[in-house]
Amino acid sequence: MPRRRHSRASNDQPRCSRRGFLQGVAASAGAALLPAGVAGCGTDPGAAAAGAQDLPAYYPPALQGLRGSHPGSFESAHALRDGRALPNAASTGEAYDLVVVGGGISGLAAAFLYRERRPAATVLVLENHDDFGGHAKRNEFRLDGELQLLNGGTLSIQSPRPYSAVADALLRRLGIDAPALANRIQQTGYYASLGLVNGYFFDQPTFGGDRLVRRDPGARWSQTLADAPLSLRARDDIVRLEESTADYLTGLSVVDKQARLGRISYRDFLRDHVRIGPEAVAFYQQRTHDIWGVGIDAVPALDAWGYPELPGFAGLALPRTATPLMGTSAAGYLETGGSVDLHFPDGGATIARALVRALAPEALAVPDLDALVSARADYAALDRAGSATRIRLGATVVKVANLGAGDEGVRVNYMRAGRGHAVLGRHCVLACWNAVIPYLCPELPAAQRAALRAATKIPLIYTSVAIRNWQSLARLGVANIHAPGGYFSDMSLNEAVAIGRYATPRTPDQPTLLRLLRVPCAPGLPEHEQNRLGRTEILATSLERFEAEVRRQLGRMLGPGGFDPARDILGITVNRWPHGYAHEFNPLFDRLLPEAEQPHVLGRARRGAIVIANSDAGASSYMDAAIDQAARAVEELLDA
Ligand SMILES: Cc1cc2nc3c(=O)[nH]c(=O)nc-3n(C[C@H](O)[C@H](O)[C@H](O)COP(=O)(O)OP(=O)(O)OC[C@H]3O[C@@H](n4cnc5c(N)ncnc54)[C@H](O)[C@@H]3O)c2cc1C
Repeated sequence: MPRRRHSRASNDQPRCSRRGFLQGVAASAGAALLPAGVAGCGTDPGAAAAGAQDLPAYYPPALQGLRGSHPGSFESAHALRDGRALPNAASTGEAYDLVVVGGGISGLAAAFLYRERRPAATVLVLENHDDFGGHAKRNEFRLDGELQLLNGGTLSIQSPRPYSAVADALLRRLGIDAPALANRIQQTGYYASLGLVNGYFFDQPTFGGDRLVRRDPGARWSQTLADAPLSLRARDDIVRLEESTADYLTGLSVVDKQARLGRISYRDFLRDHVRIGPEAVAFYQQRTHDIWGVGIDAVPALDAWGYPELPGFAGLALPRTATPLMGTSAAGYLETGGSVDLHFPDGGATIARALVRALAPEALAVPDLDALVSARADYAALDRAGSATRIRLGATVVKVANLGAGDEGVRVNYMRAGRGHAVLGRHCVLACWNAVIPYLCPELPAAQRAALRAATKIPLIYTSVAIRNWQSLARLGVANIHAPGGYFSDMSLNEAVAIGRYATPRTPDQPTLLRLLRVPCAPGLPEHEQNRLGRTEILATSLERFEAEVRRQLGRMLGPGGFDPARDILGITVNRWPHGYAHEFNPLFDRLLPEAEQPHVLGRARRGAIVIANSDAGASSYMDAAIDQAARAVEELLDA
């Protein structure tokens, strides 16, 4: 959940455009403008073919180890960033009506929407990862012969706002009626019915002793914390904060209270206004990692007030309306209570797969959504010569250039398996990350490039862990654990869902999956600085270290319930996202600007045949934003 709140020989010739696009390019831009070797269809045939994805054993969802931004996915982009030389691009001879850079939800939605408007169009999606979906990544495990799924990134069809009408309508066209499906798929309360509740893990280095405490629904906080390794003062602080209805900003008007909360962090509010001590502050430090991707030192108190689960605001008597100083999502929670909260067993990956099924039906030839969830995708069918839409994986785009000053088309260079390739497009949607675009597209005006660079994404790690059974959790009576000082701040049992032939395990003696969250932070620094350090940390951390931390923390948290990491862990998939959640407005660090001057609005301006989609372009870390931006980008291309 994000803040605020993934026999060819004869057929393998490059396609000539059905509507003479290439001829149009040649006529209007002049043959001299065409890249070398791309004077017409049929040049350098086969250069794009035979990617790893065409091999029979290719199946990235089942891979373990370092996933998310996996080794091999980012090296070319980093070489480009660092100004290192890349091999020359040889033309594949291909020309498409649309080339999409980035095969996440936004890129796939752009391809889908473009083809809806122009059913005869040809589309190429280029994605640097070995799988499609972007953040919406599927983690598959086979446990006791049964398929078990977890999201490697994007989880819920949910938004702090009501889900956008455009995104909702697109999902419905894919057969996804979120409110109806939420009631059918999600088995909310299943673990509670077994007596499994939320817990807190106090760790020895932070609190002086390892202790897991259960938070029984309706219990007084003094009961919950009775056995916690906390001083009397810290316990009293937490009980007062959680249960008091005092007005900690007494004497201030509503407007002044909001202004004050917009200027201070939630940590400062707790420390300076509620006056809880450092030990109690430490109990809350990582509480915002999941939603905001940063600790309470960098989350505005005003945003925290908008989020129902953060205490201290009950007595402030503030009206439940948004103010301009609030982060977008917090404002949304207040105004609407948020939209439906649905997730498929593999999270947003089912949305990505539904889009792929619509774009490349042979890759996921199933009758309906229920069957889609359990279906194995045929990756060799994603990039078939002759298909109207081709999805090419392991392809990092390193340059996108307009062929003329207007709508004459683009040349797109990409790296794949160490070789440079070039294709032509009549149009191009950049559905990759904003911060990458200035490197790909140096022709953009300097002010636009600067605006794009402002979109520093939030790094985070979702780790999927397969375990032999969940008897230890059943004995301890917990389904979710928040660890205020843990390397991983949160652990949860795979949520109970069922759809089609798929169901999560129902009894504790069955193997299952756990999800662990880590957000690397440097409390006290400005948010973007924390993001940069976190990104560096993620890329510098070895798989061995991640695995050791998983074993150590699960052993300490669940050991008293009989969990033995050496015996009980069956597999680990570390989804690292150095470029994770899109940046959203944060009044502590960002200037409040009129919308037209905001960096994401300036950054997404159309340039010739190039338009910009992706969730960064909406400054909102949600799937509906990714789809909305795809829709806007396609409209810019086709309605101009
Ligand atoms: C861990 C995590 C959990 C999340 N949970 C939720 C959730 O529960 N609900 C929700 O609504 N949102 C969630 N999000 C937010 C998520 O970012 C969006 O919902 C959405 O999936 C973003 O889609 P996108 O297409 O804009 O970006 P991405 O998914 O990032 O896709 C962009 C793609 O472009 C690729 N790319 C970048 N540069 C290049 C290049 N040079 N060449 C080729 N390809 C390139 C990237 O690798 C990526 O695959 C989560 C995000 C993360 C990281």
